[in-house]
Amino acid sequence: MRLIEASRFIVDHNVGKLAKWLRVMGYDTLFFNGSNDSRMIATALAERRVILTRDTQIMQRRVVTKGQLKAILIKSDRPELQMHQVIETLNLDCQFRPFTICLECNQTLVVRSKEQVKDLVPPYVFQTQNQYMECPTCQRIYWRGTHWQAMTERLKQFMKS
Ligand SMILES: [Zn+2]
Repeated sequence: MRLIEASRFIVDHNVGKLAKWLRVMGYDTLFFNGSNDSRMIATALAERRVILTRDTQIMQRRVVTKGQLKAILIKSDRPELQMHQVIETLNLDCQFRPFTICLECNQTLVVRSKEQVKDLVPPYVFQTQNQYMECPTCQRIYWRGTHWQAMTERLKQFMKS
């Protein structure tokens, strides 16, 4: 049995691209942009997050070696191989909760009706899309357009590569 659930993450600045992709999949993911490793570790412990990093020193921390904190040492410097490693290691589901988390600020998106977004999205989008989500923090509107489909396709490739 796993003691730590592998569904929430904190991504170190040296593997920052992982944050976006994990959010695309719907995983709650913090991006750590500081240089104080102890703060990142404290946050990970407090919020039960898995650390993703390329920093071997973090792997030698006692909380990690003793298994109190789960951390994954990312091997590749290529984002697609990094994602493949994370998906494989933790057996993540690419269709976990797609389209539920703001890619910019990690907030849970809220459903918006077509009428509510009428003046906020381009006319072409309004005519062709029926489902919308909004980030309560940055007010970005999301819809399942071509950009979203392209990201979903890339995610599927990460699983294979
Ligand atoms: Zn946002």
